Amino acid sequence: MAVSAVLGLTRLGARLVRLMGAPVGNRWALQVVLGVFAVAVVGRLVTLPLSAYGEVVRHRYGLSTRSWGLWTRDVLVSTAIDAALTALALVALVWLARRAPRAWWALASAGAAVLVVVGSFLWPVVIEPAFNSFQSMPAGQLRSDLLDLAEENGTPVQDVLVSDASRRTTALNAYVSGFGSTRRIVVYDTVLDRLPDEQVESIVAHELGHVANGDVLTGTLLGALGGAGGVALLGWALSSPRLLRRAGAQGPGDPAVVPLALLLVAVGTLVATPVQNLVSRQVEARADVHALDLTGDPEAFIAVQRGLAGSNLSDPSPPAAWRWYFGSHPTVAERIALAEDWARLEEQP
Ligand SMILES: [Zn+2]
Repeated sequence: MAVSAVLGLTRLGARLVRLMGAPVGNRWALQVVLGVFAVAVVGRLVTLPLSAYGEVVRHRYGLSTRSWGLWTRDVLVSTAIDAALTALALVALVWLARRAPRAWWALASAGAAVLVVVGSFLWPVVIEPAFNSFQSMPAGQLRSDLLDLAEENGTPVQDVLVSDASRRTTALNAYVSGFGSTRRIVVYDTVLDRLPDEQVESIVAHELGHVANGDVLTGTLLGALGGAGGVALLGWALSSPRLLRRAGAQGPGDPAVVPLALLLVAVGTLVATPVQNLVSRQVEARADVHALDLTGDPEAFIAVQRGLAGSNLSDPSPPAAWRWYFGSHPTVAERIALAEDWARLEEQP
């Protein structure tokens, strides 16, 4: 945020963009691309010591299994992917602002919605393989039990994938991503190695809850709506002569607007996070109830929650402010209480 603010609210950012653009003959699209990369690299370099220290702490507590080589590779690949996607989006934005000086924000807003939907669909096949490799769960009792569970759930799946998460972490996790033909359930290999079968089933049942409720698609559509609204707001902010003057940009069609646009996006993300998590907590609680209904096994569910909190070293009952801002899931204490309530209701005639 500090780097974004310094580059976006002073002429330093605009100067950086022009400096990058000079050797390529100041062609606007190249200037935007190089400007985005320059801002991304500066931001990454400034935050690098803190990231490295975070990795040292994760190593110290046995959470990370990443070698420093792999860590470096992850930093490079994620910075490059982020910068490339951001550059594409900003080239489109500046292009629209140049072509349609009055209606560009509306067109960009519609474009953002489309991008979110396409991105979420392609994510599992384009981005995830850049970090992990995925294998079908090996044939056996557990695999056929899980496929039966999916059948019983009314959402048959072709396959359950196992990711090589243990290359990086000792944490236990599973998730569902994509929709339509790219939908997939992924379980970390750490889960298969360390948890008994009924706990793996409980975890997969939670993911099947997301599938049954169409949560990825709903989340994507909400994200598209949010993205469209966010870009419309961005358009409004970029029409402010005061902000533009501060940033040293002539208008939204000037490549020098890049650092200011990136700052506004960063601010938007900061504000949107708690709203997103408020929705996420509801969705996650619903998937938990679904998992309990599907497996009828609150003991395994509670054991999973305990195990997850233990091996991921997460606070079972974090402070309210943390929960409100960062909590994408109900807390461990809340999830265990939910399972106990479920069991109590089940016992009553
Ligand atoms: Zn979930």
